[in-house]
Amino acid sequence: MNSPISLVQSIDALLPQTQCGLCGHRDGCLPYAQSITEGENANKCVPGGQPVADALAALLNRPKLQAEESVWPVQADGRPQRIKAVIREDECIGCTKCISACPVDAIIGSGKLMHTILTDLCTGCELCIPPCPVDCIDLVEDDQPLPNEAQRIAEQEDLRQRYYAHIQREEKRRTDRKGPVVRAEIDTALFARFSALNEQLPVIEVASKPEHVPVALDSKTTIELAKLRTQIKKLEKQLSVREDVRKRTQLEELTQQLQALQG
Ligand code: SF4
Ligand code: SF4
Ligand code: SF4
Repeated sequence: MNSPISLVQSIDALLPQTQCGLCGHRDGCLPYAQSITEGENANKCVPGGQPVADALAALLNRPKLQAEESVWPVQADGRPQRIKAVIREDECIGCTKCISACPVDAIIGSGKLMHTILTDLCTGCELCIPPCPVDCIDLVEDDQPLPNEAQRIAEQEDLRQRYYAHIQREEKRRTDRKGPVVRAEIDTALFARFSALNEQLPVIEVASKPEHVPVALDSKTTIELAKLRTQIKKLEKQLSVREDVRKRTQLEELTQQLQALQG
C-alpha cells in the first residue's frame, strides 16, 4: 500500500534519526514512519521515548500509548539518556568493520590503523559494537547540555542527510563488492523513492548488481557518467539555494570522479 508521502515525511520529521533499528525496523526511521502510516503503533521509538510517542499520537490523532522502555534512565526532557560510543584506541586492530556499521559515518580510520569516533556526530545507536571483533568499543553517558527544540531539529536534519549519504556509498560498495559485509543490505529502494521526492535529501540511486555477462566498457561508462551528472546537478541546485560545507565537499568529490571518468 502506498502511503501519502507527506504523512510519511511528517512522521519521519519527529523521529530522532539515530537509525538504530530499536523500533524493529532494521533500516531505520523512514521504514518505521512508513509502517506507522500503514497502522503500526507509534510508540516504538526507543530513543525518542515518551515525548516522541506523544507527538506522534497528536499528529496522527490516535490515543497516547506508553513508549517502549529503554535500558537507559530517563533524562530531564523525558527521553532516554543520550549516550556516545568511544573506541579504546590502543586495543583497536584497524579491521574497519565498525565504519560500515555506523549509519551516520561518525567513525574515521583506515585498514590496519587505529579508528576513532567523532564524538559530536555519534548518536549512541550502538550499531558499531556487535561487529567489533575485539570488543573495544564502550558506551558512555553524554554529559553535554540537552539540545533545545531548534537544536534537536537541526541535529535530526543533519543525521538524516548523513544516513542518506551513507546509504548511497554502501550501495556502491555493495555492487562493487568491496569492504566487509557487517550488516544486512539496506532496502535502498524505499530511500531512493523518498530522496527523489525531497530536494533537500542527497540523491540515492539504486545501483544494478554486476551482470554475469560482460558489459561493454563504453555503455558502463556512459551510465556512470549519467549518474554522476544527475547527482552533480542536484547538488549544484541545492547549493545555489543554501551553502552547505558537506554538500560542497560531496560536489567536489563527484566532480573529480566525473573528470577522472571522462579521462
Ligand atoms: S531512532 Fe527510533 S524510529 Fe529511528 S530507527 Fe531508532 S527506534 Fe526506530
Ligand atoms: S559510532 Fe557507533 S554508536 Fe556512534 S553513531 Fe556510529 S555506530 Fe552508532
Ligand atoms: S571494529 Fe573494532 S577493531 Fe575493528 S576498526 Fe572498529 S573499533 Fe577497531
